[in-house]
Amino acid sequence: MRKKREIKNELRWQMPSLSVNEGLARAMVAAFCAQANPTATEIADIKCAVSEAVTNCTVHAYRDAVGEIRITARLLGDADGGTSVEVEIKDKGCGIPDVACARQPLYTTDAEGERSGMGFTVMESFTDRMRVRSRVGKGTTVVLTKKLNGRQMDY
Ligand code: ATP
Ligand code: MG
Repeated sequence: MRKKREIKNELRWQMPSLSVNEGLARAMVAAFCAQANPTATEIADIKCAVSEAVTNCTVHAYRDAVGEIRITARLLGDADGGTSVEVEIKDKGCGIPDVACARQPLYTTDAEGERSGMGFTVMESFTDRMRVRSRVGKGTTVVLTKKLNGRQMDY
């Protein structure tokens, strides 16, 4: 059985799905991770993945409206003594009918062709794990996990 990882610290907030809040989400996650002394690359990767997930809330989940985005960031103590960050991005928007299909590279429902369909691929490749749960009409939750290989935290 997989050992449950210990939550070392946790930050939760909610914000409206305004595009200006994408940068705020990136900055909040970066500031939260800083206590685990991550590398610059690790910070850049998790910021990029988070911004893709938040942008999806703005442009897809709440396409013609402004809705609430809830974000939870956790620092987790791993079994090997290291630390991971887990970021959950949750909306109560339109939901995704077929998550496996949506996760495929180049898949997009954007009819105008402004999007490339690479958001989930970016999230997956810039993190160690990506989980997506969605129900049509109820919303979507994306959970991104990334190992931070900086110095050990002393709590
Ligand atoms: P890009 O991210 O490259 O600009 P994209 O947003 O279309 O393009 P993905 O981020 O990979 O590509 O998402 C794929 C598809 O999954 C979207 O086109 C959309 O249909 C659906 N989707 C993604 N996130 C959500 C969400 N939070 N709510 C509803 N639908 C979503
Ligand atoms: Mg996207």
